[in-house]
Amino acid sequence: MDDPDYRKLVKETLFEVKDYTPGKSVEYVKRKYGLDRVIKLASNENSFGASRKAIEEFKKFEDLHIYPPSQPETLIHKISEYLGVEEDRIVLGAGIDGVLENIFKIFIERGDRVLLSPPTFPYYHILVRIFSGKEVECGRDENFRMTYSGEKFKLAIVCSPNNPTGNVERKEVVEDIIDSGGIVFIDEAYAEFSDENLLEFAEEENVIVARTLSKAFGLANMRVGYAVLPEWIKKLYLKVSTPFPLSTPAINSACAVLEDLDYLRWVVEEIKRERERVFRELSKHVKVYPSQANFLFARLDVSSRYLCELLMSKGVIIRDCSGFKGCRDGDIRVTIGRSDENSYFIEKFLEVMDEMGGGVDL
Ligand code: PMP
Repeated sequence: MDDPDYRKLVKETLFEVKDYTPGKSVEYVKRKYGLDRVIKLASNENSFGASRKAIEEFKKFEDLHIYPPSQPETLIHKISEYLGVEEDRIVLGAGIDGVLENIFKIFIERGDRVLLSPPTFPYYHILVRIFSGKEVECGRDENFRMTYSGEKFKLAIVCSPNNPTGNVERKEVVEDIIDSGGIVFIDEAYAEFSDENLLEFAEEENVIVARTLSKAFGLANMRVGYAVLPEWIKKLYLKVSTPFPLSTPAINSACAVLEDLDYLRWVVEEIKRERERVFRELSKHVKVYPSQANFLFARLDVSSRYLCELLMSKGVIIRDCSGFKGCRDGDIRVTIGRSDENSYFIEKFLEVMDEMGGGVDL
């Protein structure tokens, strides 16, 4: 008998899922172009690294054979102090990615309507497909702020500051979305870099506010995310979560970064200052948008695919957004790194724009 075609057994919706494209690694680019110096400003990581105290804590761990606690109280306690919210309303996950996946597990089945506002974080689109949901689109204005006009949904995702555009959402609009009867997931991955946040809405019975230690706290590799949510959703969350979402080294380093808030404040101030400098420099040449996050979004009148490839060949990795739903060829996102990295980026970016013959006189 011929081998059966096992691929037929795969969930149909998965064939429509686009691969998540992570930023290219520094090692890959060094090898590909034979370069000594390569900087990566493509994944909104924290170039300053985590607090030394967290690195020390991470190194101390030896009990690799023991399962970690499921929802560690020590870490939940530290997060509750950091945010000023009750421990009963906090859950942990493997990054915001892991938290959001659990929220989908709780609420989304075939045909359920999920409100998204492109351009936004690509993983949302992937989750909607994996869970066989139906994407419903919410518009944005010329500054990329959401313009909700009553679309019906079961789950809405509000990303503020939004990735890749960097803007925060207006409270009145978020309120309208919350009042419309569905569950609202507010992704505040970049909250620490922003002058405004939406945490107050976590008091509502239908709102989940998610944050992460991957960005301002510099723990992207540790995969620590959390959410503030109503107790009734917490109960369901604990049912659907994998039993041990966080490793003990991750839990320990997370506790350590939350004990070193002076370092956090210093890093955030550095990044915000650099963000304004890079914004001013780029604004002289291209259309760049104000940002409340650790990255800038720019809309060029030359091909971003080509530009990013050229930049990479010169040792600078940034994000070509042309593949993001709601973006176009010409859209780029650059992470704000350390001062030397940002200067190197500006130098190479202007060189490439010059070679491509565009970008001036906007
Ligand atoms: N949400 C947004 C808006 C992001 O940009 C990212 C990271 N790229 C994430 C969530 C994922 O964060 P985490 O590392 O906590 O899973």
